[in-house]
Amino acid sequence: MTRDELVLRLQREYADRREENLRLYDEKVAAVCEHCPGLKTLIDARHAALMGGLRNAMYPEKKDPQANVGLSATLVDFNEKIAHTLAKNGLAADALAPVYTCALCRDEGYVYDPSRHMCLCFETELNQRMLTELGLRQDQTFENFREDLFENDGSASQRSLMRRNYDICKRYADTYPDTDVPDLLFTGMSGLGKTFLLQAIAHRVTERGYGVQYISAYSLLDVMRKAYFENNSERLRPLMDAQLLLIDDLGTEPLMENITVTQLFNLLNERQNAQLHTIISTNLSIPELKTRYTERITSRLLDERRCKILKFIGKDIREKLGKTGGSDA
Ligand SMILES: [Zn+2]
Repeated sequence: MTRDELVLRLQREYADRREENLRLYDEKVAAVCEHCPGLKTLIDARHAALMGGLRNAMYPEKKDPQANVGLSATLVDFNEKIAHTLAKNGLAADALAPVYTCALCRDEGYVYDPSRHMCLCFETELNQRMLTELGLRQDQTFENFREDLFENDGSASQRSLMRRNYDICKRYADTYPDTDVPDLLFTGMSGLGKTFLLQAIAHRVTERGYGVQYISAYSLLDVMRKAYFENNSERLRPLMDAQLLLIDDLGTEPLMENITVTQLFNLLNERQNAQLHTIISTNLSIPELKTRYTERITSRLLDERRCKILKFIGKDIREKLGKTGGSDA
């Protein structure tokens, strides 16, 4: 599901939430009225006065500028009587307050100050769902980066290299979409932290409210294969359109020349033409990339004006993490 689709779904949920909270409010008012003799009459009378005032303002029977004079005093009077009745019956002043899950946006999901924008409650929920949707591990974030896992033996150590890679990735994620270059390419063996930094970027950019797609090369091939055999390029649309696309582990997927190479070229080409950002991680070396994906694709990846290459070298850290495999690092 794309970010826009998640927004629509969340808006529908907020509408349901408002309806449910209105129902709870009605229940609450009914219970309070049961407890306070005379209260319901006052509430109904206040409601009638308010509605009469609205009618006078919107559909005046005769043009009478004096029709609503005294209305606000009447409403204040009703409010005082209602407050007095509540107090007399030992109830708090806010016993009739509306029921909102978020009082800030009144469950609209949007606030106006002065222009319309997402309420924090909506944005937080959206980002959380986006992260779940992306299938990211919750702990793969910049905050959880552990440089002590990397060897520190001399000036050009694995640790200093990782620190540099970390800084570049963090800067990229924090400045996105105004990054130094739109694309990044991570090269290096498994277990050197490529996936970790890829996911950390995905986390940060998602939290900052941008649409991210994260996909392993293996799943990417699956999407491409279906698009190819069903002759349905729409399957690739979310990947073509994502503001930031992250492809993990390029080179581990089975190679199907017509499908992988052609469609990967189309994907990268279309994204570059649309000025969209792409990050790819691969276990392959640059010459291996050229052999596998042709010069045409590789030249796109290696264009210095567009892409920065981050090398990952040194010892596999998965053993230190107590793991035997997988792509967690
Ligand atoms: Zn809110």
